[in-house]
Amino acid sequence: MKWNRVDMKLGVTMLSIFLLVFALLGFVTDRVITKFYIQKSHEENMELAAHFLKMANTQHGINPDAITTMAEFSKVGIHVLDATGAIASRSSNMEQPLEQYLTPSMLHVLQKGQSIDTEITTATGQGFIISGLPLMDRDIFQGSVIMTASLAPIVAFLHNIRQLLLILCIVGMVIGLAFSFVLSRKLTKPIQQMVTATRNIAIGHLDTRVTVSSKDEIGVLAASINDMARDLERYQNTRSEFFANISHDLKTPITYLEGYARVVAERLYESEEEEQQYLMIIHHEAKRLNRLINDLFELSKLEDGQIRLEPETLNLVPLLERILSNVSLNASQKGIELCLQTPASVIQIWGDEGRLEQILVNLLDNAIRYTDQGSITASIEPGTEQCRISIQDTGIGIPEVELPYLFDRLYRVEKSRSRQHGGSGLGLSIVSKLIELHHGQIEVKSRYGQGTCFILTLPHRPH
Ligand code: ATP
Ligand code: MG
Repeated sequence: MKWNRVDMKLGVTMLSIFLLVFALLGFVTDRVITKFYIQKSHEENMELAAHFLKMANTQHGINPDAITTMAEFSKVGIHVLDATGAIASRSSNMEQPLEQYLTPSMLHVLQKGQSIDTEITTATGQGFIISGLPLMDRDIFQGSVIMTASLAPIVAFLHNIRQLLLILCIVGMVIGLAFSFVLSRKLTKPIQQMVTATRNIAIGHLDTRVTVSSKDEIGVLAASINDMARDLERYQNTRSEFFANISHDLKTPITYLEGYARVVAERLYESEEEEQQYLMIIHHEAKRLNRLINDLFELSKLEDGQIRLEPETLNLVPLLERILSNVSLNASQKGIELCLQTPASVIQIWGDEGRLEQILVNLLDNAIRYTDQGSITASIEPGTEQCRISIQDTGIGIPEVELPYLFDRLYRVEKSRSRQHGGSGLGLSIVSKLIELHHGQIEVKSRYGQGTCFILTLPHRPH
C-alpha cells in the first residue's frame, strides 16, 4: 500500500473528517435527546406531585387505593407524609422503603417549605427521579407528597436511540467512504495518467498524449501537457529538419563552387563567354553561401541576446520611401507595382535605423519573392502610443495551418517553395526577434492563393 499516493491521502483525510463529524454529531444528538427526556420526566413528576398535593389539600388526606391506582397508571411511586414527616399513605408499587430514596436532608428541605426535584441512584444501582412538594399552613409543615419515578424506562429508551444513532453513523460512514473512494479515484486517475505520460515524454516518446476529460484545473493541466508534447515533437522535428536543411543548403552551393572552380581551373570551357558564365555562377553561389552563413550567425546572436540596438527617434516616412526605392528594381523586374500609403503628417518612430531597415527589407523581399503578379502596398497608420506598418501583397498566400509556425527558424511553407525561390526560412525568425527587441509586435494575415499581409506595431517613443 503506497501512503504517498494522492488518492490514499485524500481517502484518509476524508475518512478522518467523516469520523470526526459523525462522532461529534452522535455525541451532540445523544446529549440533546438525553437532556430533553430527563427534563421532561422531571416536569411530569413535578406536575404529578402538584396534582396530588392539591388533592391532599382539599380532601384532608387521600384514599390509599386512589394513590395505588394513580401510581400504577402513571408508573411512579407515591408517598404522602404527615406533619411529623412519617408516611401517612403510600402506593403499593414501591419495592423499596422510602428511606432508600428520601434522605434526611431532603426531608429537611421539605419541612422548610421548599420543594425537591433531584435524581438518586439506589444501592442496587437503579436511578430515580425524586420530586417532592410540601404542604404548608401558615409556614408550618403539614405534610408532603413525594413522587419517585424510575429512570430505567428512559435509560432503555435512550439505549435504543443510541443504537439507532450508531447504525446511522455506520451507514453514513460506509456511504461516505464509498463516495470518497470513487471521488478520489476519479480525481487521481487523470493525475496518474499524466504522470505516466510525462515520464514517457521524458524518455523521448513525444507522440504521447493525455485524454482531456474535463474543463477544470486538471483538464487544463492535461491540455498543457499535450501542448508541451506537441511543441517538443515539433521542436525535435524542426531541429532534425534544421540540420537536414542546413546541410543541404550548405552542400548545394559548395558542390557548385567545387565543380565550376575545377572547370575554370582546368580550362574545361570552350569560349571566354563560357568561362565568364561559370565565374558568374561561382560568384552567385558564393554570395548565397555568405548570406546563409551571415543569417545563421545573426539568428544565433539574436537568440543568445548578443545583439544590442542603438535606438533613436526616426522619421518613418522617408525611411520607408528609401527602402521601397531600394527594392523597387527587384519588384519592377517581376512586373510588380509598389505602393506607399502614408498620412501627410510627420510620423516619428523609436528604433534602430539599420535594424528597422533589415526588418522591412526582409518583409518586402518576401512579398516580392512570393508574389507573381499584382502589387505590394506598404501603409502606415499612426496611433497614440504605437504605429502600425503593414505590408500587403497579392501573392501566393500562406495556408492557415502554416501561420502559427511561420516565425520558427528555418520554417518554410511547402519545403519546395522556398528552395525554388532560394530562401532558407531564416528571414522571418530574424524579423520577429528584431521586433521583440524593439518592444513591438508582428502578426500575419493571409489567404491562400490571394495574398499576405504582415502587420508590425512599433512604439512611437522610447519605453
Ligand atoms: P530567407 O531566409 O531567405 O528569408 P525564406 O523567405 O524562405 O528565406 P522566411 O522569410 O522566414 O524565409 O519565410 C518563411 C516562409 O514563409 C517562406 O519560405 C515562405 O514560404 C513563407 N512566406 C513568407 N512571406 C511570404 C509572403 N509574403 N507570401 C507568401 N509566403 C510567404
Ligand atoms: Mg524571407
